[in-house]
Amino acid sequence: MSFDRSLARCSFCGRSSSEVRRMVAGPGAAYICDDCLQLCNEILHDATPFSPQALELASRSPVVVAAPQFQTQERSSSPTRNEPLRKVTLELEQKQQGMTLILHQLHYYQTHFELHYLWMRTPFRAGFAFVPRIIFSLQDDIGTQWTGERGGILLARPELSGGSNNAVYQGNARFRPLPSPDARALTIRAIDPLAQFEHEHLQPWQFEIGLS
Ligand SMILES: [Zn+2]
Repeated sequence: MSFDRSLARCSFCGRSSSEVRRMVAGPGAAYICDDCLQLCNEILHDATPFSPQALELASRSPVVVAAPQFQTQERSSSPTRNEPLRKVTLELEQKQQGMTLILHQLHYYQTHFELHYLWMRTPFRAGFAFVPRIIFSLQDDIGTQWTGERGGILLARPELSGGSNNAVYQGNARFRPLPSPDARALTIRAIDPLAQFEHEHLQPWQFEIGLS
């Protein structure tokens, strides 16, 4: 890729050649000015691992000289990795031990599917050292089973909660393979593994949904 050197700007501070004493050219459109070289030198000789100077340099916004033109047209016409092939809305709600689980949607991809849910409960205590999850167990009417929680996420959604005693978490759980086209019904059981410690005889949530 050729590059017009008159456009040269320091990759660290964004100033152009006319604004600095010396500019050192790197590969492609990368440059560093004498001031930024001096700063880097000071950081190198500073014994503290995260000095204010180092943090300041690292937190600068990137200097974009010319945005590379990748084949954006081709990219937008094909479905991206994160876009499901099909979405099925469920909107099923169930209460258990003072917590509510709402099954929101099923997202179908090429080789897996995701269950998207909302979990309403008392907020987790501050200082929780790990991200709690709901554990799902799925079974269809022809005997295929899916267990666990693969590659899912759980996000706190404070803007959806009604008050300080109520917290809303948005999550999704991933299952592989896809249900067979012959399957007509899916049973979804869910437990909160943390609540097992507090309630000995916890019943799992159980939902029955039709597959079309
Ligand atoms: Zn600079």
